[in-house]
Amino acid sequence: MLPFKLVYHEGYFLPLGAHVFPAQKYRLIHRYLLESGIAGPADFITPEPGSDEDILLVHTPDYVRKLKTGTLSLQEEMQMEVPYSQQLVDAFWLAAGGSILAAQRAMKDGVSVNIGGGFHHAFPDHGEGFCVIHDVAVAIKRLHKDGLLQRAMTVDCDVHDGNGTAAVFPPKISPPKISPPKTSPPSARAGQPLPSAGGVQHDLRAANPPGRDNTGELEVFTISLHQENNYPRFKPPSSIDVNLPDGTNDEQYLGWLSQALSSAFRQFEPQMLFYIAGADPYVEDQLGGLALTIDGLRKRDDLVLAAARSRNIPVMITFAGGYARRTEDTVTIHCNTVLAAAAAFAGF
Ligand SMILES: [Zn+2]
Repeated sequence: MLPFKLVYHEGYFLPLGAHVFPAQKYRLIHRYLLESGIAGPADFITPEPGSDEDILLVHTPDYVRKLKTGTLSLQEEMQMEVPYSQQLVDAFWLAAGGSILAAQRAMKDGVSVNIGGGFHHAFPDHGEGFCVIHDVAVAIKRLHKDGLLQRAMTVDCDVHDGNGTAAVFPPKISPPKISPPKTSPPSARAGQPLPSAGGVQHDLRAANPPGRDNTGELEVFTISLHQENNYPRFKPPSSIDVNLPDGTNDEQYLGWLSQALSSAFRQFEPQMLFYIAGADPYVEDQLGGLALTIDGLRKRDDLVLAAARSRNIPVMITFAGGYARRTEDTVTIHCNTVLAAAAAFAGF
C-alpha cells in the first residue's frame, strides 16, 4: 500500500479517435499499477468533476460558455488540436477536479498523483496543443480561494514549454532566460548541487500552521524546462525558462534541472510544488526532440521530488504529455514517477 493517494477516474479517457495522443494511456497506467503490485485498489481515490465555479477561477466566462454549449469556432477547435465533443469537455472538467483533489491530498499526505491532467497549454480564453482546461492552474487557484495556499511553484518537465501556465501566472518581473549554448552544452557537473545536499531544512508545517491566513495575493513561481526548437512557437516567459537544445541527454538535462531548482528555491519559498511530469522528453518520443532515457527520466523525478521532500514541501504530480513510439514506454515512464514519489515520500 502506498503512503499517499492516486487520483483516477475511468472518465479521464479522452475520446480523440485516431490521434497521436494515446487516449488509452490513463487506463493502461491504472491497470499496470494494479497488475504490477505498485498500487492496490485502496490506493486510488475517485475525483468529482471540477465545478463551473472552479473552472472560472482560471478561464473566461465566454470560453467556458462556448465549451459547454458546443459553440467554439472552427478555428478555435483546430487550435485545440483535439476534436470537440461533450465527452471531451466532461473529461477535462474531471481532470481539473482530479488535480484539485490531488492537491488537497498532497497537502495532507505530502504527495499525491493525479493519473491524468497536466494540460499546460490551455489559456484562460482558449485551448491549444491537446489542452482544453488548465487543470493545474485551476487546482492552484481553488486552494488559494479556500485559504490553503498562497505561494505555489510549478515545475514543468514536459518536453514542451508550459505556455498556458506562463500566461495564467506571468512572472512579476521579466526574468532572464537560461539558454544552454547550442554548440557545447555544459556537463551536469557544471550544475550547482541541490541545496538539499545540506543546509537549512525548512519545515513547511511549522512555517504554515493551520489557520494561517493564506487569502492574500496568490504568488506562483513557474519553471519550464523544454526543448527550445519545438511547439509552441511563441513561449511566454516563465519565472525560469530553460531552453534546451535538440538532443539534450540525461546528464545534461539533470544538470540544468538541478540548477533551475537551486535557483528557484533561492528566490522563492513555496508552500506547495506542482510537478508536471511529462513523459515526452524521452528519446523515443514522437513529438519530442530530446534524448532522455527511461532511467534518466526516473532520475529527473527523483531530483524534483528530493528537492521538495528535503524542504518538507508537499508535491502534487500530474502526467501531461507522452507520445512514445511504444505506448508501453510512456506507461513505464509515468508509473516510474509513482515509484519515485513512493521512494521520496516514505515516512513523510
Ligand atoms: Zn508535451
